[in-house]
Parts: sequence; C-alpha cells; structure tokens
Amino acid sequence: TEAWGPDDDRPRKMAGPVRVRVPAKINLHLGVGPLRDDGYHELNTVYHAISLFDEVTARSGDTLSLTMEGEGAGQLALDDSNLVIRAARALAAHGRVPAHARLHLRKQIPLAGGLAGGSADAAATLIACDALWGLGMSRDDLAVVGAGLGSDVPFLLYGGTALGTGHGEAVSPVLARPATWHWIVAVADGGLATPEVYRELDKLREGSWPPAPLGAADELLAALRQRDPEVLGAVLANDLQPAALSLRPALADVIKAGYDAGAVAGIVSGSGPTCVFLATDAGHAESVAAGLRAAGVCRDAQPARGPMPGARIV
Ligand code: ATP
Repeated sequence: TEAWGPDDDRPRKMAGPVRVRVPAKINLHLGVGPLRDDGYHELNTVYHAISLFDEVTARSGDTLSLTMEGEGAGQLALDDSNLVIRAARALAAHGRVPAHARLHLRKQIPLAGGLAGGSADAAATLIACDALWGLGMSRDDLAVVGAGLGSDVPFLLYGGTALGTGHGEAVSPVLARPATWHWIVAVADGGLATPEVYRELDKLREGSWPPAPLGAADELLAALRQRDPEVLGAVLANDLQPAALSLRPALADVIKAGYDAGAVAGIVSGSGPTCVFLATDAGHAESVAAGLRAAGVCRDAQPARGPMPGARIV
C-alpha cells in the first residue's frame, strides 16, 4: 500500500521550512500479555492510522526551540520533556549533527487520549529533522531511533495497518487489499495516563491463575480481509478496556451512546479515554458523530478514515 511504499520521494535535504503531517493511531486489536521483567507488557496489537493529524514544522535555527498551537497548548510542557524535543535530540546524537532547529507543533490529537499523539509528534519530528539536516536516513533506521522514544513511534513512521509485537515497537505491515474504514472518534474531557491504565489492568488480573494469555490477532486479521464492517466490528478487541472503564466508569455511557447512535461497534482506543466507533460509510459516520454529540457524553465526536500513511512531508 501507499503507506508502506518506498519513500525515496523524500528529499535528502531541504532548506526549510519542512512541514510534516502525522496521523493518530487506534488499536483494532490490543492483546496485553503478562508483565515482563523489563517493566513492559508483552503486546499483540493491530495498529491502524486514522485521519486525525498533528503537524510538525522544522526551520533552521541557531539553537533548538519549540512552539505550539492547538490541543494541549498551555498545558503541554515545551521543554526537554516534550517528545518533539526528545526526538530532535535523539536524531541529532545519532546523526552526529548539532540539534539546531526551530520547531513548531500544530496539535489536533488530544493529550493522553490513547491515540499516541506524543509518539506521533516524535515520528513527525524525526522525518522533519532528517530532511532539514540532510541525514538521508531510511524509515527503517528512523524507526530504530524512534523505538527508543516510545513504543508507538515506529508504527507512526510507517502508518497504514500493521501488526505490533514485543511491546509494540516491532511492526510489520498487514498486507490486505486496501479498503477504507470509516470511524468516529469520541474525545473525552481530560486524559488517562497510560502507565496508570496498565497498573489498573494488573490489579484487575491479580490473583487469577493461570495468567491471562496473550490474545492473538488472527481473527482480526482475517476480518480485515473480508472488508465488511459488520465482520470487523464483531472482532474489535482491547484488553485495556476493562481497566480504562474501571478508572473512568463514565466511558460506558460513551460506548452505549455510540451504539444508540447506530454505530456498528465501539471500543476504548488504546489506554483511553478516547472511544472509537465503526461505521459503514462516510454518511453513516457523520450521523453517528452527530448522535454522539447530541448525547452530550463527550467533548467532541468527529468522523475519521483509515488507514492513512505515516509521517509524511507535505
Ligand atoms: P499512548 O496511546 O501512546 O499511550 P496517549 O495518546 O495516551 O499515548 P500522549 O498524548 O501520546 O498520550 O502522551 C502522554 C503524555 O506524554 C502526555 O501527558 C505528556 O506528559 C507526554 N508528552 C510529551 N511530549 C508530548 C507531545 N508532544 N504530545 C503529547 N504528549 C506529550
């Protein structure tokens, strides 16, 4: 698919500004295995990139600086803790160049929403700074740098629909005839911290023996090939959903409102609190979104399509 095609079309060096658009991710299947000794949970996930985008613009500069607008402006720190800055520094160290750039983030992906916005911004920054600094790195090499920044960064460099294993950082494309899926993204007020949701899952699983097996994604992958929303909707799965619902019981009302509005299926996205719903076509997605907004159970509900390509210069 386009998302996984060769990216030789990327210019090796650009004078700037370099503008990069990056999608949000949802998980069509999120199987969470036992906690490993290294502190990560073993995952079996199917990532899917949707048409909700952040944008990172890189310009040449004498130091490293970051400004932002949109979702989370005024809340999100723009210092060394920001994944944009961390990505620029990691790439500069890898490429043995000074980390000099003026970076600007235009954010639409909600903070701590279970849509991997921070990882998306890191992926966009890697693509942008690679071009600004003329490093000419392949997407595969950028993914190695990205894996050190966050589990979802490699996927957001590639986009499309992909299987994620390990702790999510090992991605391989799902080779299916391209079909467009229609989603509705229901954004909540306030976020959920991912580590807290994993801790809640561990708590819910405490004392149960044998340990929860790591659910395979086979059914989901087979359903994708059938290109039928009813079939796909029946197998969407998220092991983190009970934990997100336990921490935020009101999310059950959001899921119910989506079904009441006619959605084919609905799940919590990743660690939440964003919920995503499947529709049959673009018109149906508009009507489910309108129903969700009217129900007054979420901050916003918007249609989105998938799969989308990963971080791309625009
Ligand atoms: P995931 O689904 O990957 O667990 P998420 O979508 O729930 O993540 P993010 O918005 O990606 O949550 O990030 C969570 C935290 O990461 C934020 O609360 C913030 O403290 C930190 N962070 C650092 N840089 C960024 C950034 N550029 N955008 C968003 N969050 C960032």
